[in-house]
Amino acid sequence: MDWPWYIGASLAGMVGVSLLAWSLFADRSRGRLRCPRCWYQIAPRVETLPITCPECGRCVAKFSHLRRTHRRWRWALVAVCTCVIASALGAAPAVRRSGWARYAPTTVLILAYSHADSPADEVIKQLDSRFKINENWGVVESVNLRPWQETLLAKQCAAVLRDESAGKKMRNHALGLLVALGPRALPAIDELIATIEANGEYEMYSALRAIQAIAPQGRRAIPALIAVLTRPGAQDEYYTDTAVDALGAYIPAPAEAVEPLLDLMQREMRTYSSESLKDSIVRTLGRIGPEAIAALPYLFEQIKDTAPLTRAVHVESIGLIDPLHAESRRLIFDGLLHAEVHVRAASAEITRRHPQLLGPSLERLTTDLQSETSAVRLAAARALSSLGPGAAPARDLLVVACADENRSVRLFAAEALWSLAETEPTAAAHLQSLAADPDVVVARAARRRLPR
Ligand SMILES: [Zn+2]
Repeated sequence: MDWPWYIGASLAGMVGVSLLAWSLFADRSRGRLRCPRCWYQIAPRVETLPITCPECGRCVAKFSHLRRTHRRWRWALVAVCTCVIASALGAAPAVRRSGWARYAPTTVLILAYSHADSPADEVIKQLDSRFKINENWGVVESVNLRPWQETLLAKQCAAVLRDESAGKKMRNHALGLLVALGPRALPAIDELIATIEANGEYEMYSALRAIQAIAPQGRRAIPALIAVLTRPGAQDEYYTDTAVDALGAYIPAPAEAVEPLLDLMQREMRTYSSESLKDSIVRTLGRIGPEAIAALPYLFEQIKDTAPLTRAVHVESIGLIDPLHAESRRLIFDGLLHAEVHVRAASAEITRRHPQLLGPSLERLTTDLQSETSAVRLAAARALSSLGPGAAPARDLLVVACADENRSVRLFAAEALWSLAETEPTAAAHLQSLAADPDVVVARAARRRLPR
């Protein structure tokens, strides 16, 4: 039954508004001259100013002061309170039906967050509904609040994690929010570290993901992350990948992680637990850079029998650790000739960055491009196309290769010229001639590349 509330609200509203009008406007001067402090009616006529009030002694210097309206501020305050009560009464039926949280500002909900008992609490349901939720997983994807609100929310989540009486569901909810907060979860870093150190697999996984999103800040989580790698059986745990990736997310990645990572890699190789863990380890070793030099022999050994994607990760890391080592040079050059595009891209990326690699590579590739064997010419053309603008010194030979008898050589040569088009004005002309190529496939590919 809603009507008693609405009647109450209208009555209180009417009282409030009338009281407000009365207190502010009822006692106007209406020609009387009154003391502005004690409201004593001075005299029907005042000839000269200033004048002193005979009642309270106030000295008045202006006529406008004597004609002031007497406003009763205390009553006005009472009236405002009555109006607030009236609106509360009016909102009561809706609030009773769907809870106060729905009408509360987000900041109020955030402040109430750490006092909620479970994710079923109205405050949290309401807060969740204001976030972006992943349709498939039902988890908060991003919180899109103002920066200061996000920091406040991170602190509230930290309070939940600190609270020993908080239930498992509530802790998981707080951890989920911290993951969604990304770098803004930094104020909760100590609580996240404590969550990793205590056990509890699912919680640990979420905490690791949150720390990964906070990196490259929050370096004090590094020892806790390394401790995860050295746990017995870590090579078989699904959360270990995340700990390794989190270490790789620091810039630069911590050098003290080299030993534990190598140790983990060897344990992993004994049990063959997962290719993705190996990739994570190799990637993180690469991000440590030259300080991970001890890992190089392992990477050289391991690269021999790896799938293309894993091979690309290896080449990339070898290139970050020591690209000028003789074995690295050989592997990176082999990578340029590799049939798989990811391996070529990773190798080309390193080659372009180092003139000591680019010069000799171009020399060999241009020699290969003039080989009698078409397979060798093809590999060279493909490698040159991966090098992009780095292949500029080979442009004359590439132009020649555009007329090669092997159509794949022509295609890759055209591709390489196309990536030179910005610095090489004649490249477009060569593409133009390839557009008239007798081979349909080549002609079509060239036409696709031509500026319209
Ligand atoms: Zn007076």
